[in-house]
Amino acid sequence: MVPELPEMQALSERLDTLLAGAPFVRAEVLQFSSVKTFDPPPESLSELELVGVGRRAKYLVFDFGGPRMLLHLSQGGRVTIEDPPKKTRPKTGVVRLLWRDRPALFVVEYGTQRKAGWWVLAPGDDGPLAVLGPEPFDSGFEELILSGSDGRRIHTLLRDQRTVAGIGRGYSDDILHRAQLSPYASLSSLDDGARRKLLDAIHEVLEEALAKERRRTGGLEAKLGDRFTVHGRFGQPCPRCGEKLKRVSYEGYEIVYCAACQTDGKILADRRLSRLIR
Ligand SMILES: [Zn+2]
Repeated sequence: MVPELPEMQALSERLDTLLAGAPFVRAEVLQFSSVKTFDPPPESLSELELVGVGRRAKYLVFDFGGPRMLLHLSQGGRVTIEDPPKKTRPKTGVVRLLWRDRPALFVVEYGTQRKAGWWVLAPGDDGPLAVLGPEPFDSGFEELILSGSDGRRIHTLLRDQRTVAGIGRGYSDDILHRAQLSPYASLSSLDDGARRKLLDAIHEVLEEALAKERRRTGGLEAKLGDRFTVHGRFGQPCPRCGEKLKRVSYEGYEIVYCAACQTDGKILADRRLSRLIR
């Protein structure tokens, strides 16, 4: 399960409280492929004071008042807070970030495919942030939803980080269920009322999830808990109407939806399956 905007935002707030003002000591690298930049080197941050920890899309942004460090957890990356810092070197370890007189952040990896990564950026360099679209609460994104002519399916559009940053598969399923829209509907096919409903659903789903996440303490552990209303709940009753939730395979993963609430009772064709049959 990939942490999305609410999990990363709340985590950035906890880390900011824990670490802001602390001088960086060093990065103990356990998995060398996780370092996505070589210049400037991580050592260049030594003794610099951490101004704060923020978030952009699904990235944690460690601000050193010019230089920045980014951390992306991807699918299976998680963060453990070590107080006091440990010296262990487990196989799942990615990097241990050490700070003076503060707990250490230990990044571990439970996934096998998409790996956690981190970047050290020189002042003014946006690195991977340069290609990101607006945040879901930015006016630019609001404009796109209310008056854009994007012909792609909404599910695809919501997950495209260049279009809107921070939403993944999980909250996309829940947003479409909240808005009572088919996962296969395209944005350009929606009338004004449906567009407004979609925008409201995006904001409500993310705000509710963030409020829940803000009750979490510590780092971000392997199990993220029951975060979703319909995502990952195939076969369970729809929380709105009680019908059994359906699933459809799309672009290599599974979308969960309620046929009664979202598609006028229509069962969506599994494109992968129909190709096999043909
Ligand atoms: Zn339903």
